[in-house]
Amino acid sequence: MHRRIEGRLVIATHNPGKLAEMRELLAPHGVEAVSAGELGLGEPEETGNTFAANAQIKAIAAAEAAKLPAFADDSGLVVDALEGAPGIYSARWAGPGKDFNTAMARIERLLQERNATALDKRKAHFVSALCVAWPDGHLEEVEARADGTLVWPPRGTAGFGYDPMFMPDGFDRTFGEMTAVEKHGLPPLGLGLSHRARAFVKLAEICLDRR
Ligand code: IMP
Repeated sequence: MHRRIEGRLVIATHNPGKLAEMRELLAPHGVEAVSAGELGLGEPEETGNTFAANAQIKAIAAAEAAKLPAFADDSGLVVDALEGAPGIYSARWAGPGKDFNTAMARIERLLQERNATALDKRKAHFVSALCVAWPDGHLEEVEARADGTLVWPPRGTAGFGYDPMFMPDGFDRTFGEMTAVEKHGLPPLGLGLSHRARAFVKLAEICLDRR
């Protein structure tokens, strides 16, 4: 049986951008989002081998520490021609300085080394795994992906991370060339294109009341 999310929910992130995005998504459902940062909770080490495992580690740690239901996400870019890299290491490829220009250049160099120049050899997808953990151990988990092609050179200055080199299927613009509403706004305002938007819709279907 799925469990409804009601009242207060800890958002297990120290990233103000993710917190703001979740607050906006949850507000229409009558759920109040409190951040792990505001509660002074620590960040556990992400030792899982999958996006889902890492989301679970973060959600369980926050639920146990705060004694409240807690939400966590884990995401990244999976490149077909690179056997799934950078995958769960997507953030780490940018180094401590969070330099995504260098991380994108590394992906491009590896694609060139594999002669992946034709668009059909440059398929990639973003993954978003979401987990809500309750203090009694109950878990709700969903995962979604956004499919696309990697372009070079990077295009656009919107978004973050690998957005400027990712062109979602069915569009001729990269995520870096799209507004936030286009990329992850939910219908009717946006298209619900991004992996996170799609995963959130799945979570809302099983765990949130419609207001
Ligand atoms: P985490 O989910 O915070 O562990 O980090 C995931 C990493 O994947 C981010 O630092 C970005 O590098 C990358 N990533 C995840 N989602 C997106 C996206 O929507 N656009 C661009 N990069 C993303």
